[in-house]
Amino acid sequence: MKKPFVTKEQIEEIAKSYPTPFHIYDEEGIRENARRLKAAFAWNKGFREYFAVKATPNPFIMKVLQEEGCGFDCSSYTELLLSDEVGAKEHDIMFSSNATPDIDFKKAFELGAIINLDDFTHIDILDKLTGIPETICCRYNPGGEFRTDGSPNVMDTPSDAKYGFTHEQIIDGYRILKEKGAKKFGMHAFLASNTLTNDYYPTLARIMFRIAVEIKEKTGVQLSFINLSGGVGIAYKPDQSQNDIAVIGKKVREAYEEILVPAGMGDVAIFTELGRFMLAPYGMLIAKAIREKHIYKEYIGLDACAANLMRPAIYGAYHHITVLGRENSPCDHKYDITGGLCENCDKFAVDRMLPKIEIGDYIAIHDTGAHGFSMGYNYNGKLRSAELLLRGDGSVKLIRRAETPEDYFATFYFAKGKFDL
Ligand SMILES: *Cc1c(COP(=O)(O)O)cnc(C)c1O
Repeated sequence: MKKPFVTKEQIEEIAKSYPTPFHIYDEEGIRENARRLKAAFAWNKGFREYFAVKATPNPFIMKVLQEEGCGFDCSSYTELLLSDEVGAKEHDIMFSSNATPDIDFKKAFELGAIINLDDFTHIDILDKLTGIPETICCRYNPGGEFRTDGSPNVMDTPSDAKYGFTHEQIIDGYRILKEKGAKKFGMHAFLASNTLTNDYYPTLARIMFRIAVEIKEKTGVQLSFINLSGGVGIAYKPDQSQNDIAVIGKKVREAYEEILVPAGMGDVAIFTELGRFMLAPYGMLIAKAIREKHIYKEYIGLDACAANLMRPAIYGAYHHITVLGRENSPCDHKYDITGGLCENCDKFAVDRMLPKIEIGDYIAIHDTGAHGFSMGYNYNGKLRSAELLLRGDGSVKLIRRAETPEDYFATFYFAKGKFDL
C-alpha cells in the first residue's frame, strides 16, 4: 500500500492559501532518507552524496539536503548558479555535463567545482579554456551491454549511450591529464536508470573498481574518488519492492574490500549522485478533480496536466494515485485521469481502478518529488505550479510560487515592460 504523507484535511487547509495544483514535499521524509543513505556508506571515509540538481532544482530543497551533508551534481550553467546561491563551495559541486558549452566549463572552473569530463576531446577544450584544474574526473562508458549480477536482472546498452570515454580513451585520458598537471583524479559512470534491484550499484562498483586498478597499473594514476552516479530507482508501483539502501551499501563494501583494498586502494572515496532515490517518494502532485466525462470511457479531468508532470505522457510512466479521503473505499471504478492539454497522451493514469471520484475531490499523484516539477513546460500556455514544503511540525512553507501570466509574457517584453510588435 502506498500511503500519502498528507491527509485530505491537511490539503483542504493548505488549499485555502495555495490553490491546486501544487507539488508538496515532505521534509522529514527527505531528511530520514538522506540519513539512511549516509549510514549505508558510513564504512567509506570520504563518502558523499552529490544530489542531482536536475531532479528537483529548488534551492529550499537543496538547502535541506545540504544540511544533511550533501553536495550538488550540476549539469548546466543555471544549475551551477543555483548551487552557488545555496552556498555550495568548490568541491561541494560536481559538474557532470555533456556537449558542454564553453561558458558552462568556465563557470564550473570559476566556482572550483569538480569537473567531470564527458569526452576525451574535452581534455584539450578545457585546457585551452581554463587550464586543467588540480582535481579532475572522467566519465567512463564500458560499451557493450550492461547486466546486473543477481536477479532480477537490469539490462542496458552503454554502447548506445552518448556519454563518457571508451576504455582505451579513459586510460589515455588519465595519462594526459597527469602530464597536464592534474593531481587528484576521479572516475564516474552511469549505466542504468531507475533500477529496482539492490545489485545495480554493486555490479557497477565492481566494473569501476576493476578498471581503477587497471588505471593504476597502466598509468600510475591512483584515483581519489569513484562516483557511482545516479540510477538507484524507487518503487513507483505499490506491488514493487523498494531497494534497500543498507543492503546496497554493504554489497558495495564487499566489492571494495575484494578489489580495491588488496590493490592498495583502500582510501578511495565513494561518491553518489542520486536524484530520484533522494526525492521522488517525498514529493506529490496535488490536483483537484474539476470535470468528468462519460463517452466510450470514463474520464476525470484534473486542474493539473502533463505540464506539471510529464513522465506519464512521455514514458507511459506509472504514478500511483490516491483519492484523498477515500483511502478506504473500494477501487471499483475504472478511469482515465487526464489533464487538459490538447494532446491525447496527457493522462496521469489509463484504465486505473479507483474509488468513485466526485468533482472537487483532491487527487494525490505519488512519487513526483524527482523529475516531476523540474520537467515541466509551458505548452498550451499552461503555467508552472507552486511548490510547497511540509515541515516536521506540520506547517507548510511556500518554496516556489505558482507562475502567473506575467511570467509567461516576460520573455516578450524587450523594453520597458511592454510589447513592441
Ligand atoms: C540524471 C543524472 C543523475 C541522477 O539520476 P537519478 O536517476 O535521478 O538518480 C545523476 N548523475 C547524472 C550525470 C545524471 O545525468
